[in-house]
Amino acid sequence: MKILAMFCLLAASSALQAAKPLEVYFIDVEGGQSTLIVSPSGQALLIDTGWRGFNGRDADRIVQAAKSAKVKQLDSVLITHFHRDHVGGVTQLLDRMKVGTFYDHGPNTEDSKVTREDYADYEKALARASQHVVLKPGDTVPVKGITVQVLASNGEHIGKPLDGAGQPNPMCASAVKKAPDPSENAHSLGVIVSYGSFRLLDLGDLTWNKELELACPNNLIGTVDVYLTTHHGSEPSGPPQIVHALHPRVAIMNNGAKKGGSPAAWQIVKDSPGLEDLWQLHYSMEGGAAHNVADTYIANVDESCEGKNLKLTAESNGSFTVVNSRNKYQKSYGAAAR
Ligand SMILES: [Zn+2]
Repeated sequence: MKILAMFCLLAASSALQAAKPLEVYFIDVEGGQSTLIVSPSGQALLIDTGWRGFNGRDADRIVQAAKSAKVKQLDSVLITHFHRDHVGGVTQLLDRMKVGTFYDHGPNTEDSKVTREDYADYEKALARASQHVVLKPGDTVPVKGITVQVLASNGEHIGKPLDGAGQPNPMCASAVKKAPDPSENAHSLGVIVSYGSFRLLDLGDLTWNKELELACPNNLIGTVDVYLTTHHGSEPSGPPQIVHALHPRVAIMNNGAKKGGSPAAWQIVKDSPGLEDLWQLHYSMEGGAAHNVADTYIANVDESCEGKNLKLTAESNGSFTVVNSRNKYQKSYGAAAR
């Protein structure tokens, strides 16, 4: 009897150890992107570094999130594209934290003064990391304990559907293309992060036509649990043909007070079938009362911002919890039936 009790105790404690969740911090960088993903193995992947300037505001916020996650160094930093709101903070970040490998889509493709400036600084930053890897669609980012698959990079996308995906998408019949986008946005790296049956999608700032290519005529991605709204929930991105086909249970909008969160894009996400909740990093000034969620689900409600984040923890069975660091409101979502 005593031996059995001891065995049960041991089994329970090893089950507890095995139950370490995936952690994702959606860091508020005022309408840019910075997402810290911490695998149950302890390895950390940061997607984008926020803005430069502001006395290192965004780098400080990344360090703060890393401290909460007990992460001392960033094993991997993935830069979706070379716009200032994504790569701008890289030098200030390196002044504060060690980076293992940088991942990107290859050289800057946009001939603008700001982008050239940021890319030049990024090239200097590469010399301060141990490795640099260019990713193509179909590649995976090696993070122990989770799977990070590249869906789009440098204007290209995966040729074959992901496992279980590839169904014809009936919404494509009504798809309308926009004018081609020659900017860095259309070259964004887009990834899907999986931990067991949990799936999170982040397509950076990919724009309308490129998103359609991933969802039409066949949905190459399938469904996801959590959708980080593409391009901060702004209008040149987020056609319903992809958003609705993804069938996200939860969407996280990484908008700022005055960047992203535009009413048309917001409405497409809100109307997505099966969506249980939309969470926002900021109250959107443009959205007003009609196009913002309840304050409870918004990390930063004032224009003068405190830089509060949204934290997600996910289990391998697909269940997950979102916590608003401002008001400590949290909500759990059970495992989805797929
Ligand atoms: Zn952006």
